[in-house]
Amino acid sequence: MTVRTRMAPSPTGEYHIGSMRTMLFNFAWAKKNNGQFVLRIEDTDRTRLVEGSLERTLQVVKDFGLSWDEGPVVGGPYAPYVQSERLSLYQEYANKLLESGHAYYCFCTPERLTQVREEQQKAGAPLTHYDKFCLKNSKEESEARVKAGEKHVIRYKMPADEEIQFNDLFLGPITFHTKDLDDYVMLKSDGFPTYHLAVVVDDHLMNMTYIMRGVEWIPSTPKHILLYKAFGWEMPLTGHLPNLKEVGAHKKLSKRDGTVDARLFLEEGYLPEALLNFLMLLGWNPGTEKEIYSLEEFISAFSLERVHKTDLISFDREKLLWFNGVYIRQMSVEDLWLQIVKWAATYGVDLGIDDRDHDYIIKVVALTQERLRLFSEFNELTSYFFTEPKVDKELLNK
Ligand code: GLU
Repeated sequence: MTVRTRMAPSPTGEYHIGSMRTMLFNFAWAKKNNGQFVLRIEDTDRTRLVEGSLERTLQVVKDFGLSWDEGPVVGGPYAPYVQSERLSLYQEYANKLLESGHAYYCFCTPERLTQVREEQQKAGAPLTHYDKFCLKNSKEESEARVKAGEKHVIRYKMPADEEIQFNDLFLGPITFHTKDLDDYVMLKSDGFPTYHLAVVVDDHLMNMTYIMRGVEWIPSTPKHILLYKAFGWEMPLTGHLPNLKEVGAHKKLSKRDGTVDARLFLEEGYLPEALLNFLMLLGWNPGTEKEIYSLEEFISAFSLERVHKTDLISFDREKLLWFNGVYIRQMSVEDLWLQIVKWAATYGVDLGIDDRDHDYIIKVVALTQERLRLFSEFNELTSYFFTEPKVDKELLNK
């Protein structure tokens, strides 16, 4: 069977550096097996859409040097790859679950749901759940109300008392219990699916063979397992990759502690090759001392057995700087200068070189190459060569 992996970004903000790591692993696994890497856009939560986020996501993936075999722009045999363009499919599959008794219509108003939640909280429930109020409605009654135009959602009917066994590709066996799960909404009143229904339908219809995503998706997995079972489909092999954290921290990387937006790393003057190389070793290790990998070398070395079985892994910013320095030193001086100029033009940076002639600049770049770790350090390291030192006349007078 052809290996098919995917990444399914939601255009709800700027693309996270941790997502780029997850994408890299999915990309590499598909390439290593001569398979296909698919990009699918999960834009069903209309309240969280951020203008321009999709375009910026596609751009940053390309800027990092990755690409997709199927997805937006390039298309493919399972198009469309944007979920908001696939709404009738989710409707169709939700209807199948209604027919097979795995789902039901719910007509509860937001006011009633709030009241139920508050009562459960008051009674000290650690987790609040929908109280299955609409489950008692007969099929005929529900259908008549839908026909009459009453506002409704479709909920999954969670089995009351079932243990769910799951064998994570990386983490091994995990057990869930349905009593911890809710009769969650699968199809909203606006006709859009929620994540769980859409992701399962699409991963199946798009013939995915592997799902590799961050550990924050583990709580969703039992819901997906039950959906695959309800449809009678085989679930792709699924594994959860460690999230990134600051060195010494115990929680996922957050923008409060430093740059997390993948695009900003490029803007700060990191090279995409250095960034990718650094990301390769966040959750995977080759089992050797080798640290410097081109993308091709990584693809051929990558294996699922050597993915770390943990939930958090340190994003060592000093080490990233070190990687960038290594890649800067590997370049010829001319090439380095070209890259710096390109970077400055892309991000509107004034390099402070005025109209110096090329040979002079190249000499300065050659002198700086050893110490330069980040393009944004260029001005600070070279201003001495390009500007007259400022003398404070007041100080001289004294
Ligand atoms: N749309 C989800 C996200 O934003 C995809 C999660 C998954 O890979 O299943 O990451």
